[in-house]
Parts: sequence; structure tokens; C-alpha cells
Amino acid sequence: MTDTPLQLFNSLTRRLETFTPVHAGEARVYSCGPTVYNYPHIGNMRAYVFADVLGRTLSYKGYKLSHVINITDVGHLTDDADAGEDKMEKMAAKEAKSIWAIAEHYTQAYWADIKALNIRQPMEWSVATKYVPAMIEFAEKIAEKHCYELESGLYFDVSTVADYGRLAGFDRAAAAASLAAKAASLAAQAAIAETPEEQARLMVAAVEAATSAHSVGRIEKVEGKRNAADFAIWRKTPTGETRQMEWDSPWGRGAPGWHLECSVMSGALLGFPFDIHTGGIDHREIHHPNEIAQNQAICCSGGLDVAENSGAKLWMHNNFLVERSGKMSKSSGEFLRLQLLIDKGYHPLAYRVMCLQAHYRGELEFSWEGLGSALTRLKRLVMAVEPLRARLNDEGGAVTEGLVPGPKFMPLLEAFDVAISEDLGTPVALTVLEQVVALKKVDLAQKLSVIARMDDVLGLKLMHLTRADLRLTPKSARITIEEIDEILAARRQARADKDFARSDALRDDLAARGVEVMDGDPLGWDWKLEG
Ligand code: AMP
Ligand code: ZN
Repeated sequence: MTDTPLQLFNSLTRRLETFTPVHAGEARVYSCGPTVYNYPHIGNMRAYVFADVLGRTLSYKGYKLSHVINITDVGHLTDDADAGEDKMEKMAAKEAKSIWAIAEHYTQAYWADIKALNIRQPMEWSVATKYVPAMIEFAEKIAEKHCYELESGLYFDVSTVADYGRLAGFDRAAAAASLAAKAASLAAQAAIAETPEEQARLMVAAVEAATSAHSVGRIEKVEGKRNAADFAIWRKTPTGETRQMEWDSPWGRGAPGWHLECSVMSGALLGFPFDIHTGGIDHREIHHPNEIAQNQAICCSGGLDVAENSGAKLWMHNNFLVERSGKMSKSSGEFLRLQLLIDKGYHPLAYRVMCLQAHYRGELEFSWEGLGSALTRLKRLVMAVEPLRARLNDEGGAVTEGLVPGPKFMPLLEAFDVAISEDLGTPVALTVLEQVVALKKVDLAQKLSVIARMDDVLGLKLMHLTRADLRLTPKSARITIEEIDEILAARRQARADKDFARSDALRDDLAARGVEVMDGDPLGWDWKLEG
């Protein structure tokens, strides 16, 4: 039987909960989307791989999924609280383009990554600027009871709702102090490090800790705020300034605060309460507590012992992808974009495998070696499944949904269901899929239909990918795949003719052009290009 109850970790209660939908048979999910002021880095994309696996799992469990991902094209400041400049305005000024052009360009780039990672299209990509009138309406409804006006804008008074900050679940000041102490200690160790490498590593760690301390502990310096955590829901354009994006409102010309958009769009498209709200773990600290406060204000002002008052029954967060040398930071110049991985010759789905190999709630450390092993794992799967598909095709068979698999498959289907139902246990689910791929002496159509069913959840495109698809030429390559094939054919001929001098010369020629020949590679991969 494959009907294990689906258990998901709720950040609001900090425990696993059995998924019970608000509307029978349906699952309504909202995911915080990207701010389209720059390319997404692969850490950002981890958040959408996670949301995609969640959505696929809900579909696999038989729920009718309604998924919304928003596109933030207004309002997100360089700091998640109310400090700093508007990210969109800043990039538009830097690139001397209109904000609309910036938003269009980076939205397209984000969608290209979504496609490359085989992330399913949501029911709706909701674009923030299309909802500004609805945001003003929302703010008008809650303003009297929950907000107050200052010169810089309309502020939400967090003391007007019960349990503010429960989602963040910890004492911010204490956390900031402990991170600051950690930063100081790391910096002190760096000063006496024995090697320059060690020193550099410690300094990077110290800066990371100091940055986290800053973001956890920041106290907004806006004059007149009633509580440190109060946040702007409308930001007035300062007198004498004009912004590219501004709208009239009862509180003057300006732009909405970032947190407002997600409350408005999730409520409008999914209805409060909906089932699941997702985002990266950084949103657990500021963005989502603020969204929750607004949702409480518009719904009922009820406390958070009743999860529905928060706007969603479950709040789920993926942990971060980290990279020790700082290449994840968009301010570091060249940062880790999916395109960079592709340019180096890694198929983008190797990154998806890397994400699936880790549980979404654990931190995942990026390394090129790790990505290389994920690619090998993907190659193994593809090179095993592709011939099976060809054989079934030759035999005139087909993968059909209703096919009932034989008894050999049952324990594996069960193990897969248990793994994925335990808070999306993709690392185990992936190994179960590999066990199915390795099964011998079983009906081919049944085997492929089981693989297809599991791959519907994991999303590795195993019913489509070919060995040739995985052969990406690194951008820096000085040779084409056709040339490599030609030289290797000549080398095979030389070896058949026992002309080993020529065979070695051809191999050296390939090596000089960045091609490593891999005779006897257990995967049968034959050659590799250095990226
Ligand atoms: P942003 O475009 O900055 O709003 O971020 C888009 C999504 O990526 C949000 O859900 C963030 O929480 C998430 N995110 C940001 N950095 C990382 C990271 N290093 N690893 C995983 N998720 C991240
Ligand atoms: Zn959001």
C-alpha cells in the first residue's frame, strides 16, 4: 500500500504535522518568489526546487494543487527590514535602465532557470506591481486599528496583534549578541592563523557571522517608531524626490512595503486560510512574521495558537545553500548562477540532484566536487533508463498510468512513499528510485512505469533525458564534440591496427585541447572535457 500520511514540518509550531487540507482534496500553496533586480543565484533556486518537490508530492498524493509564486518587482529594500535602498531602483540606476526593463530581463532569466531545473509552472506567477491598488485597499482596511503614520510612511504596529514573531521563535537580541561574539572570536583566530589559506577561511567565516548578527539584530532607526519591529506598509516618496515606481495613496505618493505584497496576493489568489506558505529560512525571521501580522490584522486579529489565523496552516522553510568562499553573494561580482554551472559543462539537473540528495531543512554546502558526483549520479540513472525506454519502444510497449506493477515492485513503492511522506525525504526517495532502476528480471513496462511515477515526484526528466543531453560543452572548450568523436574514432582504428604510437599521439592531442580520455570508465563515459 502506498498511502502513508503526509507529514510536513511546520515552522510555526516547530514540529511535524500531518497534512490535512483546508479544502477537501485540494492543496493551496504560496511560495515567496524572487526579487527580479538581478540574476538568481543557485541558492535562491534551491528554494524553488524545494517548493517544486512539495508541489509534486502533493500532486502524487492525489491533491489538486494550486500553486502561486510571486514576482517581486517593487518594494524590496536592500535590507529585509525597512533600511536601505529599493533593490529595483538601485539596479535600474546602476544599469541606466527603466525598472520595468530590469524586471522584464531578470524575470525572463529566472524563468529560464526554472525551466532548466524542471520546476513545474505554478498556477500563477503573481506580479507585485499588478496588485498595488489591492495593496492600498488592504492597508486602508487595517490602518485604523493596526497602523500609524510617520513622515516616512505608514507603519504597522506589531503590538496590535497577538504572538508577533512566534514564527521566528527566538530572542532576536540574544541571537544577535551570540553571533557577534562568534564573529569576534573568529576574527581573533584569523589574526593568529598559521597559513594564509586558514586566515582567509576564518575571515570569511567571521564576516558571515558579523553579517548575520547585523541582520538578526538590526533595530530600525526610523524616528518615531513605537516598537523596534514595526515595519512600513507604505513608504512615502521623500519630498523633492521622485521614484521610477510610485503610486498615489491616502498616505501620499509612494510605494508599498515589501511584506504587504505577499499578504495581498496570497489572500487574493488562494483565500485565507490556505494550506502552505513556503520560503527560504531567512524569511522565517522578518518577512514571514510581518506577513503573518498583516494576515492576522485583516482576518481576525486572533492569536497564533490557531494556525489558520496566520493566513496559512503550515509555514515551511528550506535551509540555505552555502558556499565558503563567498561566491553566493550577489555583491561579489561573479556569483554562482545556474548559467555558470552550465558554462562549465554541468547539466543543470545535476544541481537538482544535489538539492535532492540533501534534506531541504539541512544546510547544503556547495562544492564543484559535490556537483561532479551529483552529475555522475544523474548520468548513471540516465544511462540505465535510456536503453530501457528504447527497448520498450522497439517491443511496441508503452508506459501507461494505470499499469499495476508486480509484487517485486511493491516494497520499493512502499519505501518510496514512506520516504517522501516523511517531510519530503528526497535523499532516501532517490536511493529507492535507484533500486528500482537496478531491478533485474522484471517486466519492462512495469519497471518503466514505476520509474516514471517516482520521477514525477523527483523531477529528473528520466523519461526524456538522453546520454547526449548530458554532454554539455564547457564554454571554454577549444574543441567540438564532433571533433572529439572523429579523433576517438581514428584512435580506435589505430589501436585496431596495433599502431600504438599513433593512438598515444591522438590521445595527447586530445589532452592538449582539454579532453581527458577515460578508457575503461565504469560508466562508459569515454571522455571528459575540463570546464
Ligand atoms: P530573494 O530573491 O532574495 O527574495 O530570494 C528568493 C528566495 O531564495 C527566498 O525564498 C530566499 O529565502 C531564498 N534564498 C536566498 N538565499 C538562499 C540560499 N543561499 N539558499 C537557499 N535559499 C536562499
Ligand atoms: Zn514573500
